Amino acid sequence: MAQIIDGKKISQQIKDELREQVAELKANGKEIGMAVIQVGSDPASSVYVGNKKKACAYIGIRSESYELPEETTEEELLALIERLNKDERIHGILVQLPVPAHIHEKKVIEAISPKKDVDGFHPQSVGALSIGQKGFVSCTPAGIIQLLKRSGVEIEGKECVVIGRSNIVGKPMAMLLLRENGTVTVTHSKTKNLKEVCKRADILIAAVGRPKMIDASYVKEGAVVIDVGIHRNENNKLCGDVDFDSVEPIASAITPVPGGVGPMTIAMLMHNCVESAVMFDE
Ligand code: NDP
Repeated sequence: MAQIIDGKKISQQIKDELREQVAELKANGKEIGMAVIQVGSDPASSVYVGNKKKACAYIGIRSESYELPEETTEEELLALIERLNKDERIHGILVQLPVPAHIHEKKVIEAISPKKDVDGFHPQSVGALSIGQKGFVSCTPAGIIQLLKRSGVEIEGKECVVIGRSNIVGKPMAMLLLRENGTVTVTHSKTKNLKEVCKRADILIAAVGRPKMIDASYVKEGAVVIDVGIHRNENNKLCGDVDFDSVEPIASAITPVPGGVGPMTIAMLMHNCVESAVMFDE
């Protein structure tokens, strides 16, 4: 029977630690401000934005909300970001993605100052991660490192296999595992003998975006399995990239969906926001 890694509990611990840290900063006269921008009213985006604002309120971060109409031009959005880049009361800028099709996502990401890039998507943040410089780390992979560490899973010297090489999960995940001294293999849709490669893993991270693809035939006995995927199954229930029922009996530890990686993403966004108030100070 595997240890179930409880992302809900660990994310709550992190939020409580941040709340204390924010109270201390406030007592020393420093208030943290976060700008949350949403363009258009996509219902899923509105839920994410609402959750982010709620988390800010819980932790004690002042959030400024910009709910812009769908027809907002790219110029208007970039001008707002520029203004917020210069605003000393704002430490983190978050633009909820995706933006409407007439706005270039890349331009938006690159317009945010790397000093306020709490999502960690700016090319400078990504570059800083690969060469070990100061910068924000993409929230989902940063959350996975916290899940592993806080569950007592040692990374150093371990065979780590990441399935997926996206810019927001797979690639930063690989860099972070490397930073923790894991031996890292990154796999993708062109990888040959995927099962055999995955079976080498002491720590297997599934960020493949295919419901329940990773069953027991991909997993070594005793491996730690982290499931990044989020899908709705035929009964409208949430499931991951991992076939939990098949893998759980042979894994030593596993994250469930929901309640595993998912809650960590917002917790790490809040972490980045708190960091943003101090990271570039020294
Ligand atoms: P992407 O679709 O951007 O990337 C998927 C990756 O998996 C690609 O690198 C792709 O390879 C690889 N892949 C696809 N099919 C196969 C296959 N059959 N065999 C091997 N590799 C394959 O997804 P994301 O990284 O954005 O997200 C992955 C999952 O995580 C999704 O389910 C998403 O919903 C979820 N997610 C969850 C988050 C959370 O907070 N819990 C946050 C972000 C994402 P190639 O590059 O060759 O195409």
